Amino acid sequence: ANSILSSYGTSVFEVMSRLAIETQAINLGQGFPDDNGPADVVAAAQEGLADRPNQYPPMLGVPELRQAVAKHNKRFYDLDVDWQTETMVTSGATEALSACLFGLIEPGDEVVLIEPLYDCYLPMIRRAGGIPKLVRVEPPRWELPYEALAAAFSDKTKLILLNSPMNPAAKVFTPAELGFIADLVKRHDAYAVCDEVYEHIVFDGLRHHPLMTLPGMRERCVRIGSAGKTFSLTGWKVGYVTACPALLQPISKCHQFLVFTTPPNLQRAVAYGLQKGEDYFTGLAAGMQAKRDRLSAGLAGIGFSVQPCQGTYFVNAGFEALGFAGDDMAFCRHITTDAGVCAIPVSAFYQDQGTAMRTTVRFCFSKQDAILDEAVARLARHF
Ligand code: PMP
Ligand code: GLN
Repeated sequence: ANSILSSYGTSVFEVMSRLAIETQAINLGQGFPDDNGPADVVAAAQEGLADRPNQYPPMLGVPELRQAVAKHNKRFYDLDVDWQTETMVTSGATEALSACLFGLIEPGDEVVLIEPLYDCYLPMIRRAGGIPKLVRVEPPRWELPYEALAAAFSDKTKLILLNSPMNPAAKVFTPAELGFIADLVKRHDAYAVCDEVYEHIVFDGLRHHPLMTLPGMRERCVRIGSAGKTFSLTGWKVGYVTACPALLQPISKCHQFLVFTTPPNLQRAVAYGLQKGEDYFTGLAAGMQAKRDRLSAGLAGIGFSVQPCQGTYFVNAGFEALGFAGDDMAFCRHITTDAGVCAIPVSAFYQDQGTAMRTTVRFCFSKQDAILDEAVARLARHF
């Protein structure tokens, strides 16, 4: 067996979702909404399945979606993108990340990452032969440590993998932080792979700024989006990549050998979705913000120390005051089996378990209000 991958177990999201199903707990662990996505987008896919071709679409994606991705970049970020040479459709952001990392990293290249980090980043980078250089942000403000970040870059740095809005920290990087990152990337002649799947789930009047929009960064950034997050359709696994032709080329070569393509009628429906009016996108963020506030207030009332959340659909909460003897993994198993509410241990987002946070858990709030209320009621009865 490959020694790099054998050091990783089954993903914490799968482990906790299985436990939630077994115990019939409310699943606030793995991040997915409990509604079925916008009815008009789903109807567009349904019509397509009956009436449009169900055979292999072009390798880079159906033209409708690639054009819609280019237009979306212009509409929200004033980025001029040529759909034919600068966009590609993937099987979710996960495949986009694989294609980017396997397409760009050569064995021995250094890759800068910000911890806590999403679970697939490290195994993919290490399997590609990259050498991870981790920099930590610390709660509750999760500010970028400028000196440590500068020290993580070297003449061997191939790229930084940046996730903003950031899972699980629920942080949106500030323009100043992005400017600092851009300067380092340029100074070290490196690239940035930008995981921006939560680009439309940002709160309190904050704005998401793609690193790609900063001066000199257009040709150095790869931008990744996902219909899973933007349309609450996680099971469709439709993602999209924007990058200049020189970067997209090695990434698309990887994509063609990984999966080649993605279901055409789901792609066409997402193309329709990306062209929805302004109210859809503002409504998505406003709806999630109300859910954030609802769950945060409920958890605080029980005695959790609830951290601020600027974006994503996750809120982190410390359980120090609840009198539980055990770490975050034990706590998540305990509340799943004994209180009927599932969450994710934040230590799962750290490379080194020895120095990870051990008393903070992540709750997903993209659920119906009644479900959030029931989850809070169950936890309140338990503690
Ligand atoms: N990146 C981050 C930060 C995520 O949270 C997720 C999934 N929740 C993904 C990538 C994967 O997205 P997809 O489901 O489109 O593969
Ligand atoms: N990104 C989702 C989360 O953070 C999970 C996706 C997955 O299970 N791979 O919970």
